[in-house]
Amino acid sequence: MTDLSHYVSGARVQGRSGRFADVFDPAIGTAENRVPLASSEEVAEVVAAAKAAWPAWAKTPPLRRARILDRFKFLLQENADKIAELITAEHGKTHEDALGEVTRGLEVVEFAVGIPHLLKGEVTENVGTNVDSHSLRQPLGVVAGITPFNFPAMVPMWMFPVALACGNCFVLKPSERDPSAPLLIAELLSRAGVPDGVFNVANGDKETVDALLAHPDVKAVSFVGSTPIARYIYATGTAHGKRVQALGGAKNHAIILPDADLDMAVGALMGAAYGSAGERCMAISVAVPVGEPTANALIEKLVPKIEALKIGPGADPASDMGPLVTAQHLAKVRGYIDQGVAEGAELVVDGRGFKPPQGYENGYYIGGSLFDRVTPEMSIWKEEIFGPVLSVARAKNYAEAADLVARHEYGNGVAVFTRDGDAARAFAHEVEVGMVGVNVPIPVPMAFHSFGGWKASLYGDHHMHGPEGVRFYTRLKTITTRWPTGMRAEAEFVMPTMG
Ligand code: NAD
Repeated sequence: MTDLSHYVSGARVQGRSGRFADVFDPAIGTAENRVPLASSEEVAEVVAAAKAAWPAWAKTPPLRRARILDRFKFLLQENADKIAELITAEHGKTHEDALGEVTRGLEVVEFAVGIPHLLKGEVTENVGTNVDSHSLRQPLGVVAGITPFNFPAMVPMWMFPVALACGNCFVLKPSERDPSAPLLIAELLSRAGVPDGVFNVANGDKETVDALLAHPDVKAVSFVGSTPIARYIYATGTAHGKRVQALGGAKNHAIILPDADLDMAVGALMGAAYGSAGERCMAISVAVPVGEPTANALIEKLVPKIEALKIGPGADPASDMGPLVTAQHLAKVRGYIDQGVAEGAELVVDGRGFKPPQGYENGYYIGGSLFDRVTPEMSIWKEEIFGPVLSVARAKNYAEAADLVARHEYGNGVAVFTRDGDAARAFAHEVEVGMVGVNVPIPVPMAFHSFGGWKASLYGDHHMHGPEGVRFYTRLKTITTRWPTGMRAEAEFVMPTMG
């Protein structure tokens, strides 16, 4: 077993707290590495390194910062396979899926390379006689990112390319379940020319996170993870005077109207419900067919496809779906299936009996599962399962389907499948969900738009990356200027007006 490290001031640094967490290979179910868990003293050292690097980085012309990120983009491309291998080894998702994650992260880097354009302020000549005003967007200082296990490369890249391009220094606290990809990314940033201390990794757990949340030199916190923790991060971070964006969990519905192209909807649902073993915040976990004929046809088409899913180690190119991330998570997902059965939902496909291929018997595998006749009283509708379990909740009509989405606690993503532009438009405009797909199952906005949900899926005011990310990682300053031009220089005691 290898001991992993932190990454501080441009180098891998061994943990000194004496606390470690095992990192497992979920394909075989054995602990392969140990990740150090940073103490509050170690966090203070990382933040101090970032703070020391900040003045020079903030003063570095935006174009020069952008060019460094441009070099990082090429290094990411060159090393995409290596990063994907690390992701597969610790998360379990298939290599192709991991490569897709790297690409989606890389797109944020491409966006960040163009950020100088978005840092331009506004100017007004003559706000008063011979008085001009201009505004600037300036960096915040040291900012922190706390990220979940399910996208160990992409989610950090929703944050740090934008933060760095805007002139901030960054401390990343990756998930303790799959920390190796972020460590390699840190090395690539250094190779690209990011000065020491500008990007750092403090591995750890709650103790590490709490130290970041309480540290006075951390000016802003970006978080992605489950809703209870997002709520905690938002409350604690803001109580310490920080700017916080905290993205939480999800329960994304897909409404299938009777006029939908059913084959298209089924293909979309298969990828969105079972891709990455359902461990995606934008996974579709509830399908809402409208009308009994639509529901019956949908189930009939889904069942053989779910039964034909190829499940195996993520490194096997033949696998559609890998294992779940940990033994605990596997037990949780199995528990939800047991609960759904106990609550009276109809288990049409049961993944609990899945037998892993030879040599992988101890991996954290489960087959794709399908529930029918799920109702809003059931915990499998209310709660996020985060596994390859699709619930079908039948609706009599469109109003009942829309109501199901409206009453859910979460508001991350939603999709509607239909050929009726009128209905789709009305749905998209009225639904209280942050990201809406029309015949698109996983409507993840591109890097130059912003990513974020509504309701219990996001605490804070800013979505991630895109223009919202630039606003989050900068603060506005407005400068009003007058030059002596021979005018009278007498004191004025009334409120200045610019007439
Ligand atoms: P998690 O909430 O358990 O962990 C996220 C991060 O918080 C990790 O870095 C972890 O170390 C830290 N953490 C965990 N418990 C903590 C505590 N008590 N105090 C302080 N920090 C703590 O989430 P996860 O299991 O790693 O990831 C899966 C969750 O993330 C799902 O709920 C999924 O929907 C969500 N997610 C949301 C989005 C989104 O964009 N909304 C994207 C990806 C994942």
